[in-house]
Amino acid sequence: MIFTMRHFCGIGLAAPQIGILKELIVAEMEENTIMLANPEIIDVGGSVNIIEGCLSVPDVTVDIERPDKVVVRGLSEKGTIVEVKANGLLARVLQHEIDHLKGKLIIDYRRKE
Ligand SMILES: [Zn+2]
Repeated sequence: MIFTMRHFCGIGLAAPQIGILKELIVAEMEENTIMLANPEIIDVGGSVNIIEGCLSVPDVTVDIERPDKVVVRGLSEKGTIVEVKANGLLARVLQHEIDHLKGKLIIDYRRKE
């Protein structure tokens, strides 16, 4: 998953995007690589709009309002329960990837007119 994410210059990837039907996500920001199994958002704060893109829907961007801070609980690669506190872009990526595990894409956030 990390190879695929880097190959396509992504900053996050969810397993279902590459045909793996498991609740796994990866995210990478600068030197920080996060890998989580069964991630769930356990706390949120703030709210901000950012225009998002997605490797699964090329050439589409959607302006999405999401919490600016999240705490995500999941299993690390060693199988231990970890909590990841994130804000800004990393918080955004984690929420985006967790959406993928629920079958939700950025196009589902488009406002219906
Ligand atoms: Zn995506």
